Amino acid sequence: MTVSVTGATGFIGRRLVQRLHADNHHIRVLTRSRSKAQLIFPDKDFPGVIIAEEPEWKDCIHGSNAVVNLAGFPISTRWSSEIKKEIKQSRIRVTSKVVDLINSSQDEDRPTVLVSATAVGYYGTSETQVFDEQSPSGNDYLAEVCREWEATALEVNKDVRLALIRIGVVLGKDGGALAKMVPLFMMFAGGPLGSGKQWFSWIHLDDLVNLIYEALSNPSYKGVINGTAPNPVRLAEMCEQLGNVMGRPSWLPVPDFALKAVLGEGASVVNFLISPYFLFLVFSLIKLL
Ligand code: NDP
Repeated sequence: MTVSVTGATGFIGRRLVQRLHADNHHIRVLTRSRSKAQLIFPDKDFPGVIIAEEPEWKDCIHGSNAVVNLAGFPISTRWSSEIKKEIKQSRIRVTSKVVDLINSSQDEDRPTVLVSATAVGYYGTSETQVFDEQSPSGNDYLAEVCREWEATALEVNKDVRLALIRIGVVLGKDGGALAKMVPLFMMFAGGPLGSGKQWFSWIHLDDLVNLIYEALSNPSYKGVINGTAPNPVRLAEMCEQLGNVMGRPSWLPVPDFALKAVLGEGASVVNFLISPYFLFLVFSLIKLL
């Protein structure tokens, strides 16, 4: 199969490309930066992988069997109004481009499937409600981002099978949320933020890659699919387990008011994904008070 992938240079994309390459699929990496992608996928380790910057995306998508769309500006930063705009616009911009290129292809060149990322942020947050694929969208900023992101993907030609994966927090060794949490625990500074009661809907990186892989070829993977493990845990439990595994304590929670004072709006949704240095500063300040 020939698969074009946006966001291939990211945490999830890198593992997906490794998996597809190991199984002898043809991969086209759609990136903003050829030099960055070449460092991640050097020719000697990834022979045959095509790396394409935006003007060449058309030639890659036309003739691919499938497209995986993972690109987007990282959400794990302190949100300014500019950053918030880019979090949303980057996803809509890339998805819209991908959809336009798929739709403008001739029938014989058109990919048959688009697997497009979105997030469980679609549902908003709640300490009491259970969300499944039929649940309504939330009313915070990330929910709005996810709704518009999904709506853009839904513009794809109706003959193309669309799988929208609402991804939970992805856990893997080489990046994502764990890469931000582990250094804090190493420094004896880890612990849940806020009440600790927030639900943590997680998925292991390999399970997510398996899910995307299956969605590429299995026609029953259509529409919205939650990309999460069946059993979410409370953030406090996640931190406790991480502390246990690492032989480190999970300290008392940092109170909500302090988080909000420092993080503003982003506190309610990205409180375990913020920069470790920033977090370390917050922890240190709180402990000094
Ligand atoms: P990463 O941040 O690791 O990688 C995303 C990729 O998107 C980058 O490698 C980059 O590719 C591209 N990108 C970054 N900024 C921009 C921008 N401003 N405009 C266009 N493209 C940009 O993301 P993940 O691999 O962790 O996640 C992939 C997708 O899954 C994302 O859309 C994310 O929101 C979603 N998701 C991830 C979760 C997680 O826990 N990791 C949870 C829920 C959803 P390049 O430089 O090659 O163009």
